[in-house]
Amino acid sequence: MSPKQSQVDCIFCRIVAGEIPTKIIYRDEDVVVFPDIAPAAPVHLLVIPVKHIPSIAALTDADVPLVGKMVAAANRAAKARGLAGTGYRLVINNGAQAGQVVPHLHLHVLGGRPLTTMG
Ligand code: 5GP
Ligand code: ZN
Repeated sequence: MSPKQSQVDCIFCRIVAGEIPTKIIYRDEDVVVFPDIAPAAPVHLLVIPVKHIPSIAALTDADVPLVGKMVAAANRAAKARGLAGTGYRLVINNGAQAGQVVPHLHLHVLGGRPLTTMG
């Protein structure tokens, strides 16, 4: 992967590179799924693109299909965790006020308890 697509100082790029021990739930050439280190719900997974994209706002037209792959991976992971019947939430935070702290695009998969608030 070119330096442009992977940043050495990015924690999620380092997880993709295997430099930070992380229980990888799923990975293919485009996406990686792993548990959030500070779960906000009984099931809290992160789905990230292998490619370093700083945020959903930084998405280019060429990257649009990647978001579909992220959502498909999230659906499969939620189903595998038994959330298909009870429901789950997919969240992408963009920017400071939304609470984005890791500048590498990621989709939160939350479930396993009633999720009542929207912010
Ligand atoms: P954000 O607030 O940017 O939308 O979400 C970032 C998420 O990444 C947080 O929920 C945080 O707990 C999680 N996180 C931060 N660093 C690590 C890490 O090193 N490993 C894992 N598995 N999750 C992390
Ligand atoms: Zn990155």
